[in-house]
Amino acid sequence: MSYGHFVSLALLLVMAPAAAQVPLPPPRPAGIENTRPSAGSQAAAASPSSTGTLPSGKMAGPGEDGASCAARLAELGIKAEPVPELRNGACGAKSPLKLLQLPQGVDVAPPAIVTCAAAEAFVKWMQEGVAAEAERHLAARLRRILIGTSYECRSRNRQAGSKLSEHAFANALDVMGFEFEKRRPIPIVSRPDESPEAMFLAAVRAQACEHFTTVLGPGSDAAHADHLHLDMRERKRGAKLCQ
Ligand SMILES: [Zn+2]
Repeated sequence: MSYGHFVSLALLLVMAPAAAQVPLPPPRPAGIENTRPSAGSQAAAASPSSTGTLPSGKMAGPGEDGASCAARLAELGIKAEPVPELRNGACGAKSPLKLLQLPQGVDVAPPAIVTCAAAEAFVKWMQEGVAAEAERHLAARLRRILIGTSYECRSRNRQAGSKLSEHAFANALDVMGFEFEKRRPIPIVSRPDESPEAMFLAAVRAQACEHFTTVLGPGSDAAHADHLHLDMRERKRGAKLCQ
């Protein structure tokens, strides 16, 4: 055997296994193709005409977008609009909502910019807590929720050097007070008396902790003497901070 023949034979032997595999993918059994889809089959799965070849949940991603959250809330009689992604340095929110009005025409004034999770907690608190307690203690119908701050890129308690507030992620809102039909408004203040207004404020504050993970207000510290701070901050083991 000449050197040239030897090299040719050696190359053939080295390449033979690879060359033999090249034609294999087309006749691959259907079961294997389903576990390792080619680019072509992924494109087909993304088209509306194909059904069930890829898990559709993964196409939507783990978080719900603002439009679908707003549409879901609309079915409950809530007026909310999707807001474009907020981005300001470390602050921001991917799919926030502008929450305008709750069922039975209860206005959110001014409208609050919040995440879907914060909007849902707020709605539940309003319906199961605030509206019900207004009936019980005041025999009054709720008309408007007065909002201080919702989304704002700032640190906690506006202290330089401290961590970012949940407000910086549209994950918090400050409630300043409540307005009713045929009745004077009730601001958030410290009320140690046993008036119906004091009972109402104590009840709604206690109920806020059922829906939010942080509730701060008069008595918590000087920064919260005139409003209820409500947020959906995530803590280890689902811990809450309600003071
Ligand atoms: Zn706050």
